[in-house]
Amino acid sequence: MMAPPPTQSKKAALVTGGGRGIGRAISLALGAGGIPLFVNYKSDAASAAEACRMIRDGGGAAEPIQADVADRGAVQAMFAEIRSRGYWVQTLVNNAGIVRDQFCAAMSAEDWRAVLGTNLDAAFYCVREAASSMMARRSGQIINVSSVSGLRSLPGQANYAAAKAGLIAMTRTLALELGRYNIRVNAIAPGFIETDMLRGMSDAARARSSFGVAPQKLIALGRFGRPEEVAQCAAFLVSPAASYITGHVLVVDGGLSA
Ligand code: NAP
Repeated sequence: MMAPPPTQSKKAALVTGGGRGIGRAISLALGAGGIPLFVNYKSDAASAAEACRMIRDGGGAAEPIQADVADRGAVQAMFAEIRSRGYWVQTLVNNAGIVRDQFCAAMSAEDWRAVLGTNLDAAFYCVREAASSMMARRSGQIINVSSVSGLRSLPGQANYAAAKAGLIAMTRTLALELGRYNIRVNAIAPGFIETDMLRGMSDAARARSSFGVAPQKLIALGRFGRPEEVAQCAAFLVSPAASYITGHVLVVDGGLSA
């Protein structure tokens, strides 16, 4: 099917890794705001479909869209698919992420590359695809889901910390480059949030990444965060209430880094 002319396409939001965890909570929050939403997933089609069903049940519009965002060709194909359905991405949330924790001296090059690929390269690929439509329309917003690991180092996370710090540096640069086009670019830096990612960390890895102390003991509020508590921040950052905020890193960590 031919893509409709740009003037006829409708604005939409895209959340990468939007089917589970923090991404799902962000999808639900943005979906409730009324903007049609594409929920990207890599392999868990059922979770993405469930997230879309929840959004539609709430009166919103959402469709799952598959792509491995660490693969540039797959990202190009995903954006082509979105255009062919008559939409342009006005709100981009780069949320997809993985961890492969290991002390750096023992880390495989594959684990280094995989984490950089999914957490950092993917955001570049998506921004590269989304920015021209946003610039042409003088309208857009980008949120990069970073981590406190990008601000404060933890043992065992050289790959993840490098990727998340890179995402923060990229956020600031993009804010400078795109501000004149009325495009706001911000990052969120969550602490420990209850998702499959946190549950998947072995006790040993949790201890390693928190200097052998129970992670909750390091958190001022004394508990892990909930995905919805991150999603509310994302919803704020894309709302008109945040119209003068760009290049910012919003830490959502219950005081972990205080
Ligand atoms: P999660 O529960 O493990 O979910 C990860 C999501 O990313 C899934 O939806 C997954 O898709 C998607 N994904 C992974 N690789 C992908 C790829 N190559 N292409 C497309 N999608 C991909 O993780 P989470 O805890 O919600 O984390 C979400 C983001 O928050 C990540 O960037 C993470 O680094 C960041 N973060 C999390 C925490 C935390 O404590 N949980 C703290 C700080 C930052 P499938 O469903 O298809 O597998």
